[in-house]
Amino acid sequence: PASQPDLATRHRDVMPPWSPLYHRDDPLEIASGQGCWVRDGHDRSYLDFYSGIAANILGYDVPEVRAAVERQLRTGIVHTSTFYLIRSQVELAERVARVSGIADPVVFFTCSGTEAVETALLLATEYRRSHQVVALRHGYHGRSFGALAVTGDNRWKGMGLSPVNVAHIPAGRPEGSTSADLDGPAYVRLCAEELEHLVDTELPQPVAALLAEPVQGVAGAVPLESGQLAAYAEILRERGILLIVDEVQTGWGRTGRYWGYQWENVRPDLLVFAKGVGNGLALGGVVGRREVMSCLTMPSISTFGGNPLATTAAVATLDAIEDRDLPAHAHRVGDLLRERLDRQLCDLSSVLRVQGQGLLLGLAFVRPGTHAPSPERAVAVQEECRSNGLLVGTGGRAGNRLRIMPPLTVTAEEALHGADVIAAAARRTDT
Ligand code: PMP
Repeated sequence: PASQPDLATRHRDVMPPWSPLYHRDDPLEIASGQGCWVRDGHDRSYLDFYSGIAANILGYDVPEVRAAVERQLRTGIVHTSTFYLIRSQVELAERVARVSGIADPVVFFTCSGTEAVETALLLATEYRRSHQVVALRHGYHGRSFGALAVTGDNRWKGMGLSPVNVAHIPAGRPEGSTSADLDGPAYVRLCAEELEHLVDTELPQPVAALLAEPVQGVAGAVPLESGQLAAYAEILRERGILLIVDEVQTGWGRTGRYWGYQWENVRPDLLVFAKGVGNGLALGGVVGRREVMSCLTMPSISTFGGNPLATTAAVATLDAIEDRDLPAHAHRVGDLLRERLDRQLCDLSSVLRVQGQGLLLGLAFVRPGTHAPSPERAVAVQEECRSNGLLVGTGGRAGNRLRIMPPLTVTAEEALHGADVIAAAARRTDT
């Protein structure tokens, strides 16, 4: 690969993302990876607690996935999907259908989470013959017109024209929010009343669907309150409104169960997935009730959606997730990681308690002794971690949260090591 100094002078041609990791004077080149570790262009190694934004769910250079992809490459067939029968696509659809928890499901494959969200919106609005949808505040669903319209992250508000009418309802409470004085059940009751009022009184047209992340990832791993999704689902069910769960970040075991929605007693009508399923290869999709999935009468074609290379990688990835029982592993190691962080950070006045579920964790930084968000501190800790060989993300409603999402294969030792690096970095910046 090209050397890092060379790349660092050439990256001006690439539109920069908003990640502070990228804007440094020395942007990081990920040159190679193995297990939960990556190497940069200077051959320095990092424990990756961000998994390529939750994409490398098994880590890097996984022998089973590499072998499957190499076998597929040797057939010469790597593209053009939905016109033809493709063995790996059929196999993957069977697998996804089986684990989805949806009765009589059908799967449609895309190349990304954004397209999958777009597809789900298209299906729901067509099925219910209404362009009114409801989504959660502070959520993130992608960067197309439709996905941006439902995104409740304030930083993205007002981007372009919206193809759907969207109303937003409360998500979970971030640690230290001003509504923290309400207890959980009281908060859930208030949220349910808000949804009820919205769908029965405020909105002029019937509502097609509610779109919700069970744990809000980009918002900094903020879970819904216990009972909140179930309370919402009950209101929807009584009125025939569809529940779409966005499992792009929470899926495939990351939260400690196969799907994030499985922490609640609910059954989605449509489930959106992407990220981890191809262990780094571009793949997403929607799985949903046949009745809803078949409401589109125009041809449903995606040139690259469900392509043989990505679906082959995905079948091997799901094999590994199930063979190694990675949801249970994520639950166990996530608890360890969280306890270690909480124990090491409890005396710091600039950090709030760890939030999240399984291996989807977030840590909020504030101005010492207050609940005022400190995005500067989150970025400083992220940079300090990088200097000490650990990659983490940032995000959150105010950009003040560290996002911690190691591959699900992370060992207990690696998890505790990562926690120690984060804690030491937080301690150094706690002034
Ligand atoms: N939904 C959620 C919950 C996400 O976290 C993301 C990506 N961060 C998306 C949708 C969009 O996925 P993609 O970037 O693959 O288009």
